[in-house]
Amino acid sequence: MIDLIASPAIPRLADAFHRPITYLRISVTDRCNLRCVYCMPEAGLPWIPKAAILSYEEIARIVGAAAQIGVRSIRLTGGEPLIRHGLERLVSMIAATPGIADIALSTNGLLLAEQAQTLRDAGLTRVNVSLDTLREDRFATIARRPGLDRVLAGIDAAFAAGLGPVKLNCVVMRGQNDDEVEAFAELTRTRAVAVRFIEVMPVEENVAGHAAEYVGATEILDRIRALAELRPVDGPPGNGPARYYAFDGAPGSIGVISPLSHDYCDTCNRVRLSADGRLKLCLFGDHFIDLRTPVRDGASDEDLIAIFRGSMYVKPERHHLDIGQTSSAMRALSEIGG
Ligand code: SAM
Repeated sequence: MIDLIASPAIPRLADAFHRPITYLRISVTDRCNLRCVYCMPEAGLPWIPKAAILSYEEIARIVGAAAQIGVRSIRLTGGEPLIRHGLERLVSMIAATPGIADIALSTNGLLLAEQAQTLRDAGLTRVNVSLDTLREDRFATIARRPGLDRVLAGIDAAFAAGLGPVKLNCVVMRGQNDDEVEAFAELTRTRAVAVRFIEVMPVEENVAGHAAEYVGATEILDRIRALAELRPVDGPPGNGPARYYAFDGAPGSIGVISPLSHDYCDTCNRVRLSADGRLKLCLFGDHFIDLRTPVRDGASDEDLIAIFRGSMYVKPERHHLDIGQTSSAMRALSEIGG
């Protein structure tokens, strides 16, 4: 693709290790309508005060600055992004930003059936739905709320709205849902879904039991290979580190995301914006730069671009994530959207 926005006068964003940064993941809220056992306590977390949450206009300003220095892909996440009112307004502002080529959404799917078409019409290009079980009784245990039927309706609505191929993200936990790996893989034989198995990561919420529940990507793939031969494939478009495979003749694909058994830091292309305007430089590090204060103090685009560039010296070379240990003060991925 010819990049019409790139200008030799404005060098693209790259970090101190020469990795181009083209992908910004934006958490629009830290609140969620589920309480997944590996993410949030039953009672929720101390929520960010409303006044500290970036407005859609503030987020769009930050996206506008980032796009001028080479950010091309945006993902909206949370917390649960679909509980924030009028998300389509933000999608349309981002879609109108010169340079932005791709707007994806990560959702638990509970409210997707109602919103998929509106979001698509506003400019959303892709959707990832988190789904850890295909059994209603287990859904209520893992997510601590009911709703499997609504999630499945949300997935159908995403396809109907033209948001396919939908990616399904499944966090695998021994003794909780690892016996469903095969059933999830079988879905790809009949539907054009990309099922992505994610190694459970240690955060404050689950660190005590993490070593016991962790299932590595190799074991996951071995179980699926016992069903039928898997061949490596390119997989659907995206910005992430998943490796993809498929059964012969299947319309869907199977991906593994293995932040613990293989790290992807060498090809890291992303930074994250928290709902309260902190630019987080690494998923598992405490490195961040405040963008909310300058945005609210009237910073120009040039000022914001300078802050983005300065932040690159704070971005670490790699995370240090180990089975059964947390490596940052982050309590849960809901704070920055995974
Ligand atoms: N609510 C949205 C959703 O469900 O996709 C977006 C936020 S959620 C924090 C983003 C992703 O992070 C989900 O796929 C979730 O399963 C994953 N996640 C949260 N905590 C995790 C953990 N400890 N290990 C692995 N994945 C985790």
